[in-house]
Amino acid sequence: MTNQIITMKNKKLNVPNNPTIPFIEGDGIGPDIWRSSQKVFDAAVKLAYLGSKKINWLEVLAGEKAFRKTKNWLPEKTLIAFRKYLVGIKGPLTTPIGGGVRSLNVVLRQMLDLYVCQRPVKWFKGVPSPVKYPENIDIIIFRENSEDIYAGIEFASGSKNVKKLISFLCENLNVNKIRFPETSSLGIKPVSKQGTQRLVKAAIDFALAKNRKSITLVHKGNIMKFTEGSFRDWGYELAINDYRDKVVTERESWILNNKDCKHNITIEENAKFVEPGYDLMTLEKQIEICKEVEVIINNIYSSHGHGVFRNKLLIKDAIADITFQQVLTRPKEFDVIATLNLNGDYLSDALAAQVGGIGIAPGGNINYITGHAIFEATHGTAPKYANLDKVNPGSVILSGEMMLRYIGWFEAADLIIKGVTGAINAKTVTYDFHRMMSNARLKKCSEFGDEIIKNMN
Ligand code: NAP
Repeated sequence: MTNQIITMKNKKLNVPNNPTIPFIEGDGIGPDIWRSSQKVFDAAVKLAYLGSKKINWLEVLAGEKAFRKTKNWLPEKTLIAFRKYLVGIKGPLTTPIGGGVRSLNVVLRQMLDLYVCQRPVKWFKGVPSPVKYPENIDIIIFRENSEDIYAGIEFASGSKNVKKLISFLCENLNVNKIRFPETSSLGIKPVSKQGTQRLVKAAIDFALAKNRKSITLVHKGNIMKFTEGSFRDWGYELAINDYRDKVVTERESWILNNKDCKHNITIEENAKFVEPGYDLMTLEKQIEICKEVEVIINNIYSSHGHGVFRNKLLIKDAIADITFQQVLTRPKEFDVIATLNLNGDYLSDALAAQVGGIGIAPGGNINYITGHAIFEATHGTAPKYANLDKVNPGSVILSGEMMLRYIGWFEAADLIIKGVTGAINAKTVTYDFHRMMSNARLKKCSEFGDEIIKNMN
């Protein structure tokens, strides 16, 4: 097959009919899962396009297989391939053990500046779930992938550098909050305006394109004002400045709704509805709130009032800890979530557990500006199950489904969803689901893939 390359032109992916797509099989359970997954991808593409489109798979090495063959955990050739072919997919990789070796996943994401980690969380009917109404969960997480803890700026307790940094903080910046300076390690968490806004832009563009209802900026800004708090502020700023006619913030929606309900409402009456503690505030604060109400009414009541705001994309924010509670108790209130790295890490796995666990949770790491993307299993290498043809290939299969959608091959992606739904409905599942379902038939990893293919028709 010829070597056709996906390119990005005028902010749009250009996808040939036979694109070369590099893949990393992965370590541990990776080879079992990849075999099953590739069969599913090829079957879906064949059925959808009857031979007019076909993926030209290109294996590239990383992890243990790469180390065995080349003595290098992540050969340069692999990075070159992902750079050249733009879109790729990977199984799980072992994190090399030993001082100074970074996670291969992190290196790949950083080398290609894949700043969005996108994780859709949706329940498939019949999948065993620990919650009562898993069908209420349909959330897409946009997790920032290049800053926050991923920047990895840390200094070990007792090291020369940590001592230098602690004395600099104490002597030059008047820091007096380090409780045990002699034994502290330090970590630095950079969060930038550019980093925040490119992530939030990707989330808004996605939400608008897919007709989603809201974006929640999840943060811990009540404690970390200049990192997490700024993430929230810069997110709102971008939404209002760049998408004014398409969005409404939650606070704006209250103010507009108050005026819709009582047309001759005064600015102060409106402010009192928005801030129930208004009467206890200082005069300065009251003036500030009234000014805010006035500006919103003057600026957008004509375009967003009279109920029009209800059809706009709602931009709201939530503190991270309460978000964990609410995605459990009222998941319907969350649609697209944009958040920083660490919050997103926890939230993705917590939500994945609510819809069936990491065995079927997909993910994609994407740079929406250059087009580079690597879709990947969200679970690890589960070495105890390696080569047993046992585990659930669903995470890589659904990551591939995301990839097909990303390159615009929607018909093939839809067939994968149809196949997975059918296989689960028929209760033909791998051990992880089988142990939680009654009257299910146990299938091997490869057999589950075959069931998916059978159910595409
Ligand atoms: P793990 O490999 O994700 O496995 C933890 C458990 O999750 C397994 O024992 C199994 O549970 C369940 N599980 C994982 N994949 C499954 C699948 N496909 N189907 C069904 N169940 C599945 O986590 P770990 O043991 O902490 O990590 C092992 C290695 O993976 C480490 O080297 C780590 O660095 C690496 N890792 C890589 C990635 C990546 O490449 N993206 C991500 C995370 C971890 P039961 O035992 O209950 O059956």
